[in-house]
Amino acid sequence: MSAKRNRRIPEGLRIDLSGVVENVGDHTRVRGSASLEFSDIYQAEFVRGDDISWNFELRRITGGVQVTGDIMGEVPLSCYRCLEEFRHTISLKVDEVVLTVATGQREPGDMDDEYMVLDEQLDLEPILRDAVYLAIPVRRICSEECRGICPTCGENRNLVECGCPAREPDARLKPLADLKRRLEGR
Ligand SMILES: [Zn+2]
Ligand SMILES: [Zn+2]
Repeated sequence: MSAKRNRRIPEGLRIDLSGVVENVGDHTRVRGSASLEFSDIYQAEFVRGDDISWNFELRRITGGVQVTGDIMGEVPLSCYRCLEEFRHTISLKVDEVVLTVATGQREPGDMDDEYMVLDEQLDLEPILRDAVYLAIPVRRICSEECRGICPTCGENRNLVECGCPAREPDARLKPLADLKRRLEGR
């Protein structure tokens, strides 16, 4: 995911620490909110909105900043049975240490999305993203009772009683069924 693409960057996602939590022991509280836009099933970007909100304390420690607090809200997901959107509630605790690094100290192999405070700019996105992704269920279903899409007519069976047979006979088995019928007819 590219953080550099043009988009509506949510407020409170990038924090300038200079003059705020400068010395070890300094701390402050930050809040923000964002919505998630999924480009595919595993990739999402934070855009302006209020799907999720966070309330963090930032505390300067030796060599870094400690980020503790909560993320809460609802993540929009699509059900893999019926394809309808549903909202998955999250409530997460965060406790991460983000190292402070100056541009000149960066190693060539350093990744953009490693947790780091670069030149006193703290980007909360990697922390939020990792926490939220981990909270997204592998089984994305709107409810245990979801009856899904009818494989025959494509209707959402939660909404309509389409009346199609529960299971279509496998076309490859048709010759066997014909043979059985012929043998039984003898
Ligand atoms: Zn569903
Ligand atoms: Zn049907």
